[in-house]
Amino acid sequence: MTVRTRIAPSPTGDPHVGTAYIALFNLCFARQQGGQFILRIEDTDRLRSTAESEQMILDSLRWLGLEWDEGPDVGGPHGPYRQSERGDIYVEYARQLLDAGHAFKCYRTSEELDALREERKAAGQHLALKPDDLALPEEEVARREREGWPHVVRMKVPTDGTCVVEDMLRGTIEVDWAQVDAQILLKSDGMPTYHLANVVDDHLMGITHVLRGEEWINSAPKHQLLYEYFGWPMPALCHMPLLRNPDKSKLSKRKNPTSINYYRRMGFLPQAVANYLGRMGWSMPDEREKFTLEEMMAHFDIQRVSLGGPVFDLQKLTWLNGLYIREDLDDDALLEALKTWAFNDAYVREILPQVRPRVETLSEVMPLAGHFFSGLPSIDEDSFAQVKLERESLLKLLQFLVWRFEAVPAWNKEALLGEVKALSAHFELKMKDFLAPVFIAITGSSSSTSVMDAMAILGSDMTRARLRHAIEVLGGVSKKQAKRFEKEFREL
Ligand code: GLU
Repeated sequence: MTVRTRIAPSPTGDPHVGTAYIALFNLCFARQQGGQFILRIEDTDRLRSTAESEQMILDSLRWLGLEWDEGPDVGGPHGPYRQSERGDIYVEYARQLLDAGHAFKCYRTSEELDALREERKAAGQHLALKPDDLALPEEEVARREREGWPHVVRMKVPTDGTCVVEDMLRGTIEVDWAQVDAQILLKSDGMPTYHLANVVDDHLMGITHVLRGEEWINSAPKHQLLYEYFGWPMPALCHMPLLRNPDKSKLSKRKNPTSINYYRRMGFLPQAVANYLGRMGWSMPDEREKFTLEEMMAHFDIQRVSLGGPVFDLQKLTWLNGLYIREDLDDDALLEALKTWAFNDAYVREILPQVRPRVETLSEVMPLAGHFFSGLPSIDEDSFAQVKLERESLLKLLQFLVWRFEAVPAWNKEALLGEVKALSAHFELKMKDFLAPVFIAITGSSSSTSVMDAMAILGSDMTRARLRHAIEVLGGVSKKQAKRFEKEFREL
């Protein structure tokens, strides 16, 4: 048997370090066994999936050196590798399940579903809805069908008993069937849900081992049952530990930069980031910290993954990156790295329109545009001395902006302007006054290039990291303040 693994990202946002981490382990597992690694785009959520996000994911994984054998951009014998292009396949398999009596059409409205859940809640029962709970009298089903009511296709699931799933790292996992609902397989628009598409594709693409994040453990019983219904062998499952912040909470963009774009922009080297991700819960047989991707592939052993939540620690990554710069890059290589990073025509050209109107000699360019070539600015409380806002309002302004920016789907100047306008109205400030502290947070000084353009050019993660950094140097937001801010923010 040829080992085949895959990474199956949903292109709904920035390229997450967690995706790169899981991709790395799938790649190493496959390569160590002489197998293949596939990239499949799971874009069945048509509202949230974007082509830009897909492109950023491909770019980031490639930047890290994680090459795939088959995928939407390189093709392969099991394509298409984008689920949005495979719609007919899922409809056909859903029909097979309906014909075999393993699935049923459900005409329940969302109001009815809410009422059913309320009833169960009031009775202190588990909220999972079972086929029997959802059933309607036959005549009613016939009427709704005749009248063309929207419907979904759901899978049948047992009401009680225990589902036993084997995991390569965790051994036997037991889940009560009572907790598992009659999962929707096909939505009312005919698109599959993750569960149906994932199982069908893993089977058709010949995937033998599924290494994925532990947040998917609860899906395993449904998947196992689908494999049984179809009569297909199930790939071996391995649920990897989630990456954590140093305080052990789940790695989230609210606390740490989570986008590979940020690490690129900060000037981390791809080989150092890949190495660091390899240290997440895994170690080389000789425990050394610094190793190449090739070395990791050669020595890979999944049993060396430890389940204690691996901590993604920026300081450690920075230390490791420093080792790479000092030990591995001679002058030529360092020069190349700098060019690839920011001293290249494409990036410098973006900055030229920002500096041209503001300088008289070339030597003024660097002091003016230094923030385009740096990480977090050196600022402290005094940097904000000229800002005429009380501390609480200042913190709130920066925090609200971070939150608004987290939700911006397409990062460009117009979109950012919209956010800034909306918030300055909320704070009853003129744009200029609203932007004064933002300017310092982003450019590190009180006179520089346009802050709106700077944010657009620096990108979402670097912008948010600088705003968060400003919040920190101003003393941070206390838990109490955060609660107050969140309440007000929700009402915006
Ligand atoms: N599309 C899922 C994700 O975004 C894939 C999960 C899996 O690997 O099964 O992570």
